[in-house]
Amino acid sequence: MLITNATVITCEKPNRVFTQHAVLLYGGRIARLGPSAKLAVEHPRARKLDAQGQLVMPGAICAHTHFYGAFARGLALAAPAPRDFPEILEMLWWRLDRSLSPEDVRVSALVTLADAIRSGTTTLFDHHSSPSCVDGSLDVIADAVEQAGVRASLCYEVSDRDGPAMADAAIRENVRFLKRLSANPRPWLSASFGLHASLTLSGSTLQACRAALPDGAGFHVHVAEHEQDQYDSLQKSGLRVVERLHAHEILGERSIAAHCVHVDAAEVALLSSTRTWVTHQPRSNMNNAVGAAPVESMLRSGVGVCLGNDGFSSSMWDEWKAAYLQQKAMSRDPRRMDANSLAEIALSNNAALANAFFPQTHVGAIVEGAAADLILVDYQSPTPIDSGNFPWHVVFGLQSGMVTTTIVGGRVLMKDRKLTTLNEAELAERSRRLAARAWKRIRDGGGHDAGE
Ligand SMILES: [Zn+2]
Repeated sequence: MLITNATVITCEKPNRVFTQHAVLLYGGRIARLGPSAKLAVEHPRARKLDAQGQLVMPGAICAHTHFYGAFARGLALAAPAPRDFPEILEMLWWRLDRSLSPEDVRVSALVTLADAIRSGTTTLFDHHSSPSCVDGSLDVIADAVEQAGVRASLCYEVSDRDGPAMADAAIRENVRFLKRLSANPRPWLSASFGLHASLTLSGSTLQACRAALPDGAGFHVHVAEHEQDQYDSLQKSGLRVVERLHAHEILGERSIAAHCVHVDAAEVALLSSTRTWVTHQPRSNMNNAVGAAPVESMLRSGVGVCLGNDGFSSSMWDEWKAAYLQQKAMSRDPRRMDANSLAEIALSNNAALANAFFPQTHVGAIVEGAAADLILVDYQSPTPIDSGNFPWHVVFGLQSGMVTTTIVGGRVLMKDRKLTTLNEAELAERSRRLAARAWKRIRDGGGHDAGE
């Protein structure tokens, strides 16, 4: 396929912008990038897609999300509103995840992935929990990922909150899925070993997870999202959360620490020296009122900070905007978190993370040889776009509704705003029916019954 008449934003470091360019896709990769007129002459038989001046840029990457959270939207709980993040976990998320059946897991993933394709997000790092159906749940999600056509890295969160049998089942599920992928690799799938958070993991469970970790794999864990994680860690071990995880050999260049809102300077240094990835989710942090992560301090300390959405909408540009505004509002300093820092997080670091977890593919840039994971964006910019100011166009101009076409590995997943791999209306209808049943189970205080 030859995409012609495009304004190409390469999103490399440094970024480059080309007008009236063409991108030739072949064998799932970007085979050539050059002036539109020239490539049209050189490849007369290639199927054409006229971009008509639209932006062509890499699909977005989401470094931390929860497909299983789809049914939370609009769920009203009868109890008084939770007063802090630990209560939000107990009253909402731990009741929701327990209510999920395998079919709920499948449909939650599919509706989330439909939103991702529509928003131009093509690679996602999921963190899953469904205690009533642990075994095989990652296969259910992997099938949904394959059906949707995107790339995803999966894991199951181990926690002691539902008892030792459940923790053992979660460990087995991570190990099983990691081994399945290493025996049978797929370019659109990767995996890590999921852990909920220090505050729901005993020392012996952490030890069991480390002992069970297959060679070459790393962990994906929530870290110091709320002060309670630190209080709990100090009480359990005398160590702060990052130090405790380090003592259990959880950190490293294959591990992802989500949030890191309440980390101190020594913990930041440890995240940097161990080359642990950190993900930032400002919309979730604001919604849960847990504070703002020291993102710029972590960046200056050499930590690979990436951008996730923690289950919010898959529009990563909305997360850019939140990240940009949150640091300024919290610090009352408009110089904080300039858009270049944000580009380093959401473009360079997210691409480096994805390329570490999907070593067979090169994503996150429009360059020859990279995976053909790209989007077309109908953006009529009122001001010039250049390589340097592009991040400000993301913050102040781009909206997910402007994405018209989404392509992953050369396969068109959305064309002219119509999804090709998923039937959105049917999925949404099925999701509404399943969500209503899950909400009833949540309100009745029950989990999913396998016989249901
Ligand atoms: Zn999360």
